[in-house]
Amino acid sequence: MSYAKIGFEDSVNTQLQYLIELQKFDLRIFQILDQQKKLPGLLQIAEAPLCELQGKLQVLKNEGESLAKQRRNAELELGAQEAQLQKVRARLSELKTNKEYQAHLFEIELARKKKDTFEEAVLALMERADQNSQAIKELEPQIEEAQKVYDLEKAKLETQAADLQQEITELEQRQQQLSQSLEHTLLSRYNRLKNLRKGFAVAEIRDGSCIGCRLQLPPQLVADVRRGDQLLDCSYCRRILYMANQLEGESDQ
Ligand SMILES: [Zn+2]
Repeated sequence: MSYAKIGFEDSVNTQLQYLIELQKFDLRIFQILDQQKKLPGLLQIAEAPLCELQGKLQVLKNEGESLAKQRRNAELELGAQEAQLQKVRARLSELKTNKEYQAHLFEIELARKKKDTFEEAVLALMERADQNSQAIKELEPQIEEAQKVYDLEKAKLETQAADLQQEITELEQRQQQLSQSLEHTLLSRYNRLKNLRKGFAVAEIRDGSCIGCRLQLPPQLVADVRRGDQLLDCSYCRRILYMANQLEGESDQ
């Protein structure tokens, strides 16, 4: 337990007042740092609906390209089959016997059926391409809307980030000024603690307990703090202790 007496010009209570003031800045700074850490996550959340819609659009566009390619191939096959059918038909006049004729009619029928199948395939692909274009057309205004919502939210978060940064800068300036009034070793002690305790380095004693760690303090320690001639640590969390009534007299002056 560090019970070292601190040698400085100001009274213990005045130094304590400075520390408590400094702590107000630090608590706010730590709060801001937490808020700043949350900003990228908030930006991601805001962007999620837009990303989802853009993902859907990409899937549809890929599908559209694939359909167009399939259609080009099916049309080529259809063209080839039409040519084949014409060729088979043209040979009809060269036939001599009835048997040959019958066999050839069968061949024509087969070629025709094959051509019909290709034709149906082309039509089916055209229909799917139409549905695909329609789905893209319906998605586009949704994306536009989602983009607007995201842009607004992003601008809001950017403003918030800038405001927080500005506030930190101001707090650090005030902190800097106030630090000059503090005794050097006390300031180092405070700074070490504040980093360990997320800005909460100075704790009040209430009902015999440290409000930093909520543990009951030895009565002798409470009595020593009440006397107010030195700055003492909590035996458990090492926060610098004070009593509220100890400061009241000072703040009236
Ligand atoms: Zn404590």
